[in-house]
Amino acid sequence: MSTTIAKPMPRHAGALLEVNDLKKHFPIKAGFFGGTTGHVYAVDGVSFHIEKGETLSLVGESGCGKSTVGKALLRLFPPTAGQVVLDGQRIDDLSQGKLRPIRRRVGVVFQDPFSSLNPRMRVKDLLAEPIRNYGLAKDSADLDERVAKLMDTVRLPRDAVNRWPHEFSGGQRQRICIARALAGEPDLIICDEAVSALDVSVKAQIVNLLQDLQKELGLALLFISHDLAIVEHMTHRVAVMYLGKIVEIAPRRELFSAPKHPYTEALLSAVPVPEPGAARKRIVLKGDVPSPINPPKGCRFHTRCPYAFDRCRTDEPQLQQTEPGQWAACHLHDLPAVKNPLARSAPKLAS
Ligand code: SF4
Repeated sequence: MSTTIAKPMPRHAGALLEVNDLKKHFPIKAGFFGGTTGHVYAVDGVSFHIEKGETLSLVGESGCGKSTVGKALLRLFPPTAGQVVLDGQRIDDLSQGKLRPIRRRVGVVFQDPFSSLNPRMRVKDLLAEPIRNYGLAKDSADLDERVAKLMDTVRLPRDAVNRWPHEFSGGQRQRICIARALAGEPDLIICDEAVSALDVSVKAQIVNLLQDLQKELGLALLFISHDLAIVEHMTHRVAVMYLGKIVEIAPRRELFSAPKHPYTEALLSAVPVPEPGAARKRIVLKGDVPSPINPPKGCRFHTRCPYAFDRCRTDEPQLQQTEPGQWAACHLHDLPAVKNPLARSAPKLAS
């Protein structure tokens, strides 16, 4: 066995967003007055960066911690540890008062467009509210013009501003949520399962809109999703999470054509291949995802990994570069290539 020590991922000081060793541990309380009896290790040391105008997708099964990452970045709760740097400024330790002017630079679109919009507010008020809160409009005429331009931006008719949320379809409501996220003129939008609740055709329309907006406005996107088929069509890079950790991070093409982590390989095996007659060989993982209260020792994936060997049960693998820009946390990459099933350059296709 090789004794190679994995080099840590490099810092990306010039990136729009830089996240270093982010942790969010939720305490478990016993009874009404009880003390802490343990923790849910929802996010347990996550690092990544996003460049200006780039889309990074954060993927993984339900409960892997990807949405908790998004909420910690938005400071919907304070992180347990780690650093979040936005455009050179550290924001994880700012007070709510100091965070206020920063908030407008990060928009968010959640999964459910029905519960995200106050049903007692007309669209014009829903869009005017963040513009007012951030003090962006010079006067009421400027406010109206900004609201109208937001409707243009998300391809909705200007005269629809007088309607109520319930008068719109699911896809149109998600467009209104996107318009609200754009109201503060952000640099980054966090899309947390933003298309998961939509019909297939509407999903594609919203993804196309996000891509168009990214080009028009130079936005960066953090696209949190469990749907790899959608991610494959719209992202620049992908970070794969399992039990609170990133296990692989890579450019889209490299990750989809030659995954370097067994968990990524298993996730991809369920994604349909567009070529007629071709299909990836399906890898069905054994068992359930272990509890984040008591994650397995060594590699967290070893209880389900088809390639697990002795070292996996004791040593925790660190992210190491396997190809330019591609990082994976797996001991297989310390083995000679002939013994590493992921050293091959393309995924298995079933005949
Ligand atoms: Fe599987 Fe071992 Fe790699 Fe973990 S370190 S993914 S258990 S081979």
